[in-house]
Amino acid sequence: MTLFEKAPAKINLSLDVLGKRNDGHHDVEMIMTTIDLADRIELDKLQEDRIEVSLWSRYVPNDERNLAYKAAKLFKVQYGIKQGVHIKIEKNIPVSAGLGGGSTDAAAVLRGLNKLWDVGVSLEELALLGLKIDSDVPFCVYGSTAIAKGQGEIITRLPSPPSCWVILAKPDIGVSTKSIFHRVNTDVIPHPHTNAIIQALHEKDFHNICNHIGNSLEAVTMSIYPDVKRIKQKMAVAGADGVLMSGSGPTVYGLVQHHNKAQRIYNSMKGFCHDVHIVRITG
Ligand code: ATP
Repeated sequence: MTLFEKAPAKINLSLDVLGKRNDGHHDVEMIMTTIDLADRIELDKLQEDRIEVSLWSRYVPNDERNLAYKAAKLFKVQYGIKQGVHIKIEKNIPVSAGLGGGSTDAAAVLRGLNKLWDVGVSLEELALLGLKIDSDVPFCVYGSTAIAKGQGEIITRLPSPPSCWVILAKPDIGVSTKSIFHRVNTDVIPHPHTNAIIQALHEKDFHNICNHIGNSLEAVTMSIYPDVKRIKQKMAVAGADGVLMSGSGPTVYGLVQHHNKAQRIYNSMKGFCHDVHIVRITG
């Protein structure tokens, strides 16, 4: 029996870095929402006790470095599973893009194995397990729209944004999240108005969401990759109502409510950058 699990990408409506802990990890506050750009995960039981990963990607390893592999390993150890699994990943989410591609694959594997092997663990428990892989995994276990606090493991659900279109534009570079966090100085970075975004989500106020979206890492990434700033400016000039870099970048997204306008912005961004998508928020 093959089990399919959808692994949607996320965008950050906010990303705030509050401080660095003694253990080297950062305290964060991130409002994230899922979009309808997704990897597709297939899980098949193996008789032999091993984990196999197959995928076609120049950028992602198919061995124990793959976050999907790590998730399966963690799950097997945690719940004492002696069976094996073959994980097939159809990769549609751009890699090292700030869209949580690896984290959502890992989260989908945790959810999927929970069903495949009939373990019956709660999403809360899977999210805590997922934190051992990456700080975005707990959010990805739940999906929808939520705020993640702590290292990313304290998840509170939020209302989804009003229906809108998202134009994603990824410059032709990959960003290492670790290297960006390494350069963060929490005393000088700007902090987004997280509470204002939460209020706007509750009020379903599209324009106030657009006015308040913010990302503490944006200036850091832009200082290393000026293309990100250039793309952000182009997206704003093209007419997007809210424009922000997602995660540690380099993908920049624009929010608009009407499809005609979204299509015009998409066409315009295609002139500057070849990795452009037009999607909807599913959160
Ligand atoms: P985030 O927004 O969570 O920081 P990201 O979207 O910027 O993540 P990913 O696409 O998750 O970045 O890739 C980051 C790194 O993880 C890359 O070096 C990639 O090779 C590695 N990786 C391991 N497993 C996967 C996977 N299943 N999918 C994508 N990348 C993976």
